Amino acid sequence: MERLRIRRYDYLVTGGAGFIGSHLCEELLRRGSSVLVLDDLSTGNLANLEGCVDSSEFSYVVGSVLDESLVSEAVDLCGRVIHLAAAVGVRNIIDRPVETIEANVTGTENVLKAAGKKDKTTFVASTSEVYGKSEAVPFKEDGDIVLGATSRSRWSYACSKAVDEFLAQAYWKDKGLPVVVGRLFNTVGPRQSGRYGMVLPRFVSQALDSQPITVYGDGLQTRCFSLVEEVVDCILELLHCPNAVGRVVNIGSVQEVTIMELARTVKERSGSSSKISLVPYEEAYPTDFEDMRRRMPDVSLLLKLVGRAPQAGLEEIVDAVIGWARQTRE
Ligand code: UDP
Repeated sequence: MERLRIRRYDYLVTGGAGFIGSHLCEELLRRGSSVLVLDDLSTGNLANLEGCVDSSEFSYVVGSVLDESLVSEAVDLCGRVIHLAAAVGVRNIIDRPVETIEANVTGTENVLKAAGKKDKTTFVASTSEVYGKSEAVPFKEDGDIVLGATSRSRWSYACSKAVDEFLAQAYWKDKGLPVVVGRLFNTVGPRQSGRYGMVLPRFVSQALDSQPITVYGDGLQTRCFSLVEEVVDCILELLHCPNAVGRVVNIGSVQEVTIMELARTVKERSGSSSKISLVPYEEAYPTDFEDMRRRMPDVSLLLKLVGRAPQAGLEEIVDAVIGWARQTRE
């Protein structure tokens, strides 16, 4: 297979065949940019790129961010780098701890090293998981992070993404690489798979299948859900914001909802006859699992830098996911 189509691209998107990556690629093409995707299809899917593949401004290579020479070639061909490739989903992370750490730490190191050599402006996707068990809600970027014991796999994800953040900021401080880190909060929308444990696609398919909607724990834990299109806009704004360089910035909505409220909204908006059932954590996850009670971003830095934050309401978000799920079932 041809490794890379040799031409220049405006953007390299690692993890571009994933849920967020594919929306990002579509938006970049819509804005008239050219895009190269690097994705190993571990959790991404070429079907996600259906809206991109016919464009002459788009190309992809199936490969891993662990392949240092491939990453270096790909970075060289592109003007800017958006690094999304990472292990995704709590379920996946618990099941595959070695892959999680390698993808997150070595993969990001390879991307930053290559970008650093050629001084390519880079966005690194991080996650609200790095706040860990902090109770200082809403979470501010410069607040303390509180992680659990290393015997609990979940924390390897937070810890490996925190290493990514240290590394990105070190590349800025030490080598002057223009890099911005976005801490993404729960991002949802069309094409998100429920396979890796994510709650909204799971609830929607349970509702459409008339199966019980499985709320873990007491359902009073909260999350703030953002629509992927709005998250993509924030990523692109940050990448072009000179004041964001060298910073870590929360990207999320401030609309806090309980998981029970989410289940009720899915049931109501889909007109489903499913019952909502509470599933104890011990049945849902392996024994060493710890869930976060509340997770909400402080978005003042994001608002200051780019003048916007995701704001779609819960019903709009749930309707978008139900509409997409119905359409793909037809
Ligand atoms: N959750 C749930 N039922 C499911 C899947 C997840 O109640 O079928 C809960 C999960 O325990 C957590 C919340 O929904 O409290 C969000 O889970 P997700 O894995 O989507 O994201 P994260 O925990 O990383 O925020």
